[in-house]
Amino acid sequence: MSRAWQGGSTRQWRNQRAKALRRDNNRCVECGEKATEVDHINHRASGGTDELANLRSLCTPCHAHYTRQQTTQAGKLRRGTKRQREKHPGLI
Ligand SMILES: [Zn+2]
Repeated sequence: MSRAWQGGSTRQWRNQRAKALRRDNNRCVECGEKATEVDHINHRASGGTDELANLRSLCTPCHAHYTRQQTTQAGKLRRGTKRQREKHPGLI
């Protein structure tokens, strides 16, 4: 932990989180299961805010999926050269 993020915003965040869950009827916006987590669409690290418009309710598996995806993307960007296996364009 190198930097404190908006000191003292925890209570506010909990409040926003609860509002987001209520807005989405406690349902995961991806799969419709019961939502238990709230995700930042635009991550705070990349300038996203705690506004409701930037929040979405997710279930644990979907949240884990997104987190993994974001981590993978970040890793790809950092490495730059690693490519995923592609389908042979010449084979139909
Ligand atoms: Zn889900």
